[in-house]
Amino acid sequence: MTNTSALRIVWIYPDLLSTYGDRGNVLILQRRAELRGIPTEVVHVHSSDAVPEQGDIYLLGGGEDRPQILAAERLRADGGLARAAARGACVFAVCAGYQIIGESYGDDEANPLPGIGILDIRSGRGQARAVGEIVADVDPSLGVGRITGFENHQGRTEIGPSALPLSTTVRGVGNDDRTEGAYQGQVLGTYLHGPALPRNPQLADLLLRWRVGQLAPLPQAWGDRLHEERLSAALSA
Ligand code: GLN
Repeated sequence: MTNTSALRIVWIYPDLLSTYGDRGNVLILQRRAELRGIPTEVVHVHSSDAVPEQGDIYLLGGGEDRPQILAAERLRADGGLARAAARGACVFAVCAGYQIIGESYGDDEANPLPGIGILDIRSGRGQARAVGEIVADVDPSLGVGRITGFENHQGRTEIGPSALPLSTTVRGVGNDDRTEGAYQGQVLGTYLHGPALPRNPQLADLLLRWRVGQLAPLPQAWGDRLHEERLSAALSA
């Protein structure tokens, strides 16, 4: 990482954790920063690489059960993500990524395995896979409103006392049919694919605000129309 004034966006393990277009989260963060004149630097960290510690926003996507286990083992051995979170970096993690940044998660046979431990959640395995469109209302204190996404996971997640639910589930399953996602400081996890940030520009702006403070508003654009279109499709289905 060279440009110290740029917003440093670190995409963790695209080779293991990236289902359902999670790379779109990287692209939209970069785009919404640059539209406001904020320079960005994007680093792709493959699972054979060390995780740099000086990033601003770390992104983790979803994954199938075995790549998820491998990713968790490598991130635990590396230690860079935990050190970055300890110095206050923002982490945005989706589905498998969400489960592994927690205290523990269930493997493909529901045995508990240790996570990275930067978010106070514990995930087990549900009776049935949760598959389909999801709609949820984000904690009003975050100023994000209603979010939509696509979920496909067997895991179910319990939130401990140090974290807060990200949102209340309106449609779909999320953590447990009642809440969706969790956050603790600037570490935020969600079951939403789709990808989540292009489908929910306000969620992308929350992460940017956490790093750079107040943001200039952007004119309504295709991202807002996509958000509206997915919301009405999910609610009318
Ligand atoms: N393997 C995890 C589960 O089924 C996460 C799936 C995903 O990332 N879509 O719960």
